[in-house]
Formats: sequence, structure tokens, C-alpha cells
Amino acid sequence: MKPQKFLIVGAGLAGTSLAHQLLKAGQSVTILDKGENHATAIAAGMVNPMVFRRMNKSWRLDECMEDAIPFYKTLEQQLNTPLYFPITIRRMFSSIQEREFWEKRQDLDEYKEYLTQISEADNNYSKATNEFGSGRLQQAFWIDALAYYEGNRNYFRSIDCLLNETFDLTQFDEKTASYKGIEYDKVIFCCGYLNKYIPFFASAPVEQTKGQTLTIESTDLPEDESLNRKCFVLPLGENTFRIGATYEWNDETLTTTETSKQLLLEHLSVLGDFELKIVDQSVGVRPTVLDRRPIMGQHPELDKLFIFNGLGTKGYLMAPTLAKDMCAFLLEGKELDREVSLKRFEVKG
Ligand SMILES: Cc1cc2nc3c(=O)[nH]c(=O)nc-3n(C[C@H](O)[C@H](O)[C@H](O)COP(=O)(O)OP(=O)(O)OC[C@H]3O[C@@H](n4cnc5c(N)ncnc54)[C@H](O)[C@@H]3O)c2cc1C
Repeated sequence: MKPQKFLIVGAGLAGTSLAHQLLKAGQSVTILDKGENHATAIAAGMVNPMVFRRMNKSWRLDECMEDAIPFYKTLEQQLNTPLYFPITIRRMFSSIQEREFWEKRQDLDEYKEYLTQISEADNNYSKATNEFGSGRLQQAFWIDALAYYEGNRNYFRSIDCLLNETFDLTQFDEKTASYKGIEYDKVIFCCGYLNKYIPFFASAPVEQTKGQTLTIESTDLPEDESLNRKCFVLPLGENTFRIGATYEWNDETLTTTETSKQLLLEHLSVLGDFELKIVDQSVGVRPTVLDRRPIMGQHPELDKLFIFNGLGTKGYLMAPTLAKDMCAFLLEGKELDREVSLKRFEVKG
């Protein structure tokens, strides 16, 4: 079959993971991004298989892990840059109840590959303080987010797929999906928290959740595990750590604040009194959705226009699977998972 022509607006996690799927399927792809990114590139890139609050697996976890690991490993080769770093997360329990949730799950077959049995060593863990003990989570990893974003930009530029510009609405005809005089079969908007500026999908409920992180140097924190309670402590090597992240709802300002810095330090201090030096503070804005599911689908009236957005806090885990689903939807009309479908909201034309 003749390849279709796709225009993807936005080269963050959503746009790039979809572009890779479409190219793999032999389609013609143009990806448009102005080179300013405030989520994919600044994220900590952590892939935590669990939702610790109720000690449940993340949504569609097994499937997402099966897709994500080969996706990032293949991309390392393709982009010629290291991206994928396995890590053990040590959850410092925040209550007796949370510990009991873990103890119940650790014996179940479906959790065994993730939750290790709590041992005496976990109870007596000495590198951080915690009255409820700790448990080690396996199969977690982190992606070097900046390398992912920049590597993809370079790659798409090298194969002549990237237009380095802001989408110019005045040059777009939404009925024929023509942009600057070129007609596309399908246009997919992957604009992250800036979705509200795309009039065709502005009523889709993508919210802006600002997040800030600190990069610190310390010789007191463990380098072989990522501590987690109230905040995550991600070891980057050479006594450098990323501490994050804040959740600042309905805020899209791109300024770091003293309040958030103090909040992150306060959260870290719950784990111990560590000597540290702050070397950086960064800020970004996540595209989030109230029901914690992304938003994917076709415009109800403009049938050449599509959206892939709302990846939220678990973006690096879900993107490869959801991009695969989106690709099957675009090419074969395969129904999307009801939980992520745009159809669950009323979107006006
Ligand atoms: C502080 C912080 C920490 C995070 N940590 C993690 C983490 O540890 N693990 C995890 O999985 N997720 C994490 N995330 C979330 C993750 O970053 C997001 O889920 C993901 O990056 C969203 O990707 P996206 O492609 O939808 O949006 P974006 O990355 O925002 O990409 C959208 C792109 O579209 C472009 N764009 C928008 N409008 C236009 C236009 N009109 N014309 C041209 N281009 C346009 C933008 O320039 C941008 O590059 C974190 C986010 C933040 C802010």
C-alpha cells in the first residue's frame, strides 16, 4: 500500500514515539517542533512500575514494560547515545498500612518480578532513616531525558523529517489538512501542556502541572539505589542526584521558586540529615488529565485531525505502548483503549 503522509506537531515523548512507530510501518512522516521543550527534555525520566499509594501496579504495566524496554534499547542504537539505565527503587514506607500492602503483594505471582521479599537487611537499612522499614522494587529504570529529546531531534533532522518551527495556524487548512500548501493524510497534535493553543483540541481537558526538581551533590546518599518517600532521589553518578518532583496544579509558569526548593529539601530531610550542595534547580510543565489517563483520538468533525497527549507522570513508561496503539488506530482503524480515548470527553469542533 502507498505510504500515507503524516504531519506530527510536537517532538516531545508523544510525537517522537509515534513518529518512530509510523516510520517503522513505512509511512511518510514530517515532525514539527520549535526546539523549546519543557517536559520530555527536563523530566527525571524515571520508570517506576508501581503506584505506591495503594501499592498497585501501574496501568497496563506488564504490556508497557514489554514495549518500553526494547523501544529504548533500540533507540540507543539508532540515536547512538546511552538512554536506558536500570535502577532499584528503595521505597521507604510511609506508614504501617503501606508496608502491609507490600507484604500482601510480595507473595503474589503477578507482583513477584517487581516487589522483592522484605528482608532483615531492608528492615535495618542504614543509609536513610525510616520508622516503617523499606522494600526494594525491581525492574525500574530511568531514561536520560535530555539525551532522548536531543538525540531524537538530531535523528529526525538527519533523515530530513524535522521542521524546526512553531505550527503556524494561518498556514493551515483544517478541512484538507494542508500545511504551507502541502496536503497531509493525517495531522496529529502532540503539543503537551501547550495543547490549549491548538483551537481544534483546545476543549480536551489537558491540564498544566508544573514540576520542579533539584540536582544536588552529596557523599551521604546511596549511589546504587533510588530512595523514594515523599520525593525520589535519583543517583546520576559521581555523587550527583536528582531530587523531585513538585506538583503545582494549573500552573504553567516556567520559573523556579524558592518555595519549591525548600519543599524538596524538606521532603528529602524526612530520609535523613544529609550534607549536600545544590547545583541546579529545574522546572517544567507536565500535560496531565484529571482521570490520570492520556487523551488519544480523532477529532469528531475534522476527520484528518488527531490528538495524542496527557502522558502525565508516567509518560516514559506508557509512551511506547500508546504510540503503538495510536499507530494501529491511524493505519488500521483499530479501536483505542476506551480509557484513553478522546471519546470519553465531549470535544467541540
Ligand atoms: C519536572 C518533571 C519531571 C518529570 N519526571 C518524569 C519522570 O520521572 N518519569 C516520567 O515518565 N515522566 C516524567 N515527567 C512527565 C513527562 O515529562 C511527560 O509525560 C512527557 O514529557 C510529555 O510528553 P509530551 O510529548 O506530551 O509533551 P512535551 O514534552 O511538552 O512535548 C510537546 C512538544 O510540542 C511542542 N509544541 C507545542 N506546541 C507547538 C506548536 N504550536 N508548534 C510547534 N511545536 C509545538 C513543544 O515545543 C514540545 O517540544 C516529568 C515532567 C516534569 C515537568
